Amino acid sequence: MDLYDITIIGGGPTGLYGAFYAGLRQMRIKIIDSMPQLGGQLAALYPEKYIYDIGGFPKVYAKDFVAGCVEQAMQYDPAVCLSESTLTLVRENDHFVLTTNRGTHYTKTVLIAGGVGAFTPRKLNLDGLDVFEGNGLHYAVSDVAQFAGKRLVIVGGGDSAFDWAMALGPGAASCVQIHRSDRFKAHEDTIQKVLGGGHVDFRAFHEVRSVQGDGKVESVTIFDSRSGEEFLIPCDALLLNLGFQSDLGPIKEWGLEFDKRGIVVDSTMRTNIEGVWAAGDICTFPGKLKLIATGMGEAGTAANFAKNYIDPKSRAHPGHSSELK
Ligand code: FAD
Repeated sequence: MDLYDITIIGGGPTGLYGAFYAGLRQMRIKIIDSMPQLGGQLAALYPEKYIYDIGGFPKVYAKDFVAGCVEQAMQYDPAVCLSESTLTLVRENDHFVLTTNRGTHYTKTVLIAGGVGAFTPRKLNLDGLDVFEGNGLHYAVSDVAQFAGKRLVIVGGGDSAFDWAMALGPGAASCVQIHRSDRFKAHEDTIQKVLGGGHVDFRAFHEVRSVQGDGKVESVTIFDSRSGEEFLIPCDALLLNLGFQSDLGPIKEWGLEFDKRGIVVDSTMRTNIEGVWAAGDICTFPGKLKLIATGMGEAGTAANFAKNYIDPKSRAHPGHSSELK
């Protein structure tokens, strides 16, 4: 039995910072993530977007921030298990047995940093669309350069759609953004920049009727939902930003206390199961904000109290890092 001090479920910014802090506290660490790479939502959904609200970084690309988080966490050589999803968690005497789709793990404590769970993009329900996936139809953008000089149609009225319109519009041959209403769920500043920037042909109350092309997207037919009028838009890339579906999966069956979709924690990030902490987007408490900065702080708190739990002689307060090395 290879027993770890702490096993962190989720390798997003919260889990990575938790791993760093557990390392600072000389714990033996394992990270498990269902995705093939570390970085959570930042790596999967918006690697090339700027983040503006992380302390110390006036602006930073999500992928660069993830690289820093990974480097910081890897200083302490955590075991990293990728493409592995958790199934069951059972306490046996003084440790937990955690099973995944790939094996069994043994750990004294658990930090659940699973974010919004395993997430998948919400798909557009139109016949025959599947063949275009990866052939001009995109539910996520991982490489901005591939859209330069292309004719783009962006669908959606949320942050992602407006952010991509702002980022890709200026370099595109053409950029049409459509949304089914004139109400948006994006930052006002971004909306203003897109609508007033001159790079994006924005059309409210428009939806996708069909996609045409011989093996790849060549044009998109959109329609005005008020008049029914149709428009054929020549197009190389169709970006669909319709939100995400997420699933916590078997974690819901572990006996944890939930409030809606959040695991209830106390001020030390402890859950109702002794030895199990939760932090980041997956946890909830009065005043909870789902932000990278807050998730990282919560992970530090959780790691320190987990240390105190397995070694009661150690203090929960870690002291200042500037004085530890
Ligand atoms: P996540 O990043 O979701 O990571 C959780 C990880 O857990 C995932 O990698 C997942 O695969 C893994 N996981 C889940 N369930 C399991 C399981 N059962 N087994 C194994 N692994 C599992 N926040 C900001 O503060 N500033 C911003 O500017 C900002 N911009 C954003 C832009 C977009 C487009 C989006 C979608 C989000 C943005 N956010 C922003 C929110 C931010 O990304 C999240 O708050 C942050 O990612 C939460 O980090 P986390 O580590 O808690 O969860």
